[in-house]
Amino acid sequence: MGRTSKDKRDVYYRLAKENGWRARSAFKLLQLDEEFQLFQGVTRAVDLCAAPGSWSQVLSQKIGGQGSGHVVAVDLQAMAPLPGVLQIQGDITQLSTAKEIIQHFEGCPADLVVCDGAPDVTGLHDVDEYMQAQLLLAALNIATHVLKPGGCFVAKIFRGRDVTLIYSQLRVFFSTVLCAKPKSSRNSSIEAFAVCKGYDPPEGFLPDLTKPLLDHSYDFNQLDGPTRIIVPFVTCGDLSAYDSDRSYPLDLEDGSEYKYTPPTQPPISPPYQEACTLKKKGRLAKEIRPQDCPISAVDTLPQ
Ligand code: SAM
Repeated sequence: MGRTSKDKRDVYYRLAKENGWRARSAFKLLQLDEEFQLFQGVTRAVDLCAAPGSWSQVLSQKIGGQGSGHVVAVDLQAMAPLPGVLQIQGDITQLSTAKEIIQHFEGCPADLVVCDGAPDVTGLHDVDEYMQAQLLLAALNIATHVLKPGGCFVAKIFRGRDVTLIYSQLRVFFSTVLCAKPKSSRNSSIEAFAVCKGYDPPEGFLPDLTKPLLDHSYDFNQLDGPTRIIVPFVTCGDLSAYDSDRSYPLDLEDGSEYKYTPPTQPPISPPYQEACTLKKKGRLAKEIRPQDCPISAVDTLPQ
């Protein structure tokens, strides 16, 4: 595969590099903001599951005017520094990380909490959806500790079987809950974004980090009456936006000429780094298949 083929197959990947964003995800947040004016009046924000940092880049540039806003970014993985962004490396499902984030907003709550968290996908849909829901609920739990009344929460959501339960839980805390699909999010992907506005916890609600929000005793499919929430589904962007499921020629229709751009921020220590180094030196061991071996060697292979 040539180095330009991904640029051709994924226009948002290419545009991200050309515009200096660390990841194509930047366009998802920008398109969500275009639709829902998420950044209006925002000066303090939390970016959960932030690496490699394109949402943090967007936040630090867009909030508080001239980038004077306050952004706290959290991820399991190390993230290259960004001006004006305070970073915490940790797991958002862990009490210690949640406490560290909350500490930064004590006395001065956040206007916006975003979470683009995605677990390592296993391919087992039920497991993946469950893990995604856990991340979202961990993010919601943190949001209940740091958001100001009226604040906004945006989180990646997998529109799977049990999504109704998640909508119901979100509606407990927010006056408006929508499900949005930005143009830059592939149609082929189950992902969408829960956009929750107007943080308004129930009277007497006391945020509590020790209580998990997902109650496993529910039969998720049996929700009805007021517990069954059907939220509006909104696609962000009109037909003039690039289609994330299409391949585009390298010279785009707007006349801009193609020039290869390297990634804005290469991964810090990717798991494949050692293999790449060994390959460059020609020292990457090849799998020995019985059919490649002389007969005498096959006899000595372990059974
Ligand atoms: N919004 C990011 C951006 O624009 O650069 C991209 C986020 S990426 C799709 C998902 C991130 O979720 C990964 O960096 C992963 O490390 C992080 N993540 C997954 N589980 C997490 C957890 N339990 N705590 C913190 N981060 C987590």
